[in-house]
Amino acid sequence: MLFNTSNISTDIISNDFLKQKNVQLSVLRLDKIHPIISGNKLFKLHYFLEEAIKSGLPGILTFGGAYSNHLVATAYACKIAGIKSIGFVRSEKGAALSPTLISCINYGMQLHFLSRAAYNKKDDEYLNSLSDKEKQYLVVPEGGYHPKGCAGAALIAGYIDETTTHIFTALGTATTLAGIITGAKKNQKVIGIPVLKGMTDITDRITYLTDSNHPLELLEGYHFGGYAKKTNQLISFMNQLYLQYRLPTDFVYTAKMMFAVLDCAEKGFFAPGSKITCLHTGGLQGNQSLAADTLIF
Ligand SMILES: *Cc1c(COP(=O)(O)O)cnc(C)c1O
Repeated sequence: MLFNTSNISTDIISNDFLKQKNVQLSVLRLDKIHPIISGNKLFKLHYFLEEAIKSGLPGILTFGGAYSNHLVATAYACKIAGIKSIGFVRSEKGAALSPTLISCINYGMQLHFLSRAAYNKKDDEYLNSLSDKEKQYLVVPEGGYHPKGCAGAALIAGYIDETTTHIFTALGTATTLAGIITGAKKNQKVIGIPVLKGMTDITDRITYLTDSNHPLELLEGYHFGGYAKKTNQLISFMNQLYLQYRLPTDFVYTAKMMFAVLDCAEKGFFAPGSKITCLHTGGLQGNQSLAADTLIF
């Protein structure tokens, strides 16, 4: 691993209700690895970085939106690895640079801006516009959505307490979820919380990413309106989580996942004796897109 992962901790979330139900809830704090390259992104990049370094490639080329955790993680990881990085950004012309993109630039990433229409053609036309040198860069699909990203995410399973009965994770591209089912123990239930509304291709995605046929469960209905959408209820929940447990979450992924797990607990989803591990997949830098007084952390 390019980064030290010894900061990762397993934090117990305890309250009277969970105690009374005899349900143990913990959070695997992958967000603690590093403030920029945190959570699942380092893991998803692991084998790509290894390949770029071992093969002596000049850099990594990838894609993302203006607040993309993946983009900034890639920029930072490449800087640390001593290789170059190029980011294709989906953004309308003239839009102000987001804090995420400013960080990407500060880490040496060369950004190319694409309109939505051009972005959707990224695989062909835009790669053709690259110089010969740039064509040698290792291409990482958006969000690390690739079997190699999945293999990297599978390493997360090694940090999960062996006595865990249920693993919860938020899903965007489903790469992390695919990695977890690849690495999970036979008897562990793996539960994914889609943060996009109406994802219908999750099974196909999993099939593309992994050979594992470990069962998984998806809990729809916790997207709060769709990708990167939020409600006042979600924001107060995040502040409450921080007040009560000192747990910072991001509004795009981890807050929705934590909301889901606590809601499930309340609805009696878990048998007494269950030990749940929620993956804190990081992403805190994305909260910078919120107005300054939104969150108390
Ligand atoms: C990217 C991201 C996810 C989603 O991971 P996928 O592998 O794309 O499903 C979850 N949580 C956070 C914080 C992320 O940044």
